[in-house]
Amino acid sequence: MSTLDFKFRAETNDDWMEFGSCRGLSDIFFAPLAERPQTRHRREDKARTVCLQCPVLETCREFARAHREYGFWGGESEEERHQAGYRLIAPIGVRA
Ligand code: SF4
Repeated sequence: MSTLDFKFRAETNDDWMEFGSCRGLSDIFFAPLAERPQTRHRREDKARTVCLQCPVLETCREFARAHREYGFWGGESEEERHQAGYRLIAPIGVRA
């Protein structure tokens, strides 16, 4: 193995992200530190409303599932993605 054999994230076509309705709205798609469950539900309801009007919803959901993303993607919370069988190490809202 040479010193140039680093492991990088597989290159993906992320062009669809340009069309996401969530651009500039990161604060409702990713949890702040120490967020309370009730606050998380309200934040995720707002994110879901944005996603349901997004032209790339299906692509986004598939991407997030395939890459085990954290945060709210494609109309799904981490908990919903986890429960759909796309396991995360420590999803928010899922008890061990
Ligand atoms: S589906 Fe939701 S998270 Fe995905 S790009 Fe659209 S608005 Fe953003």
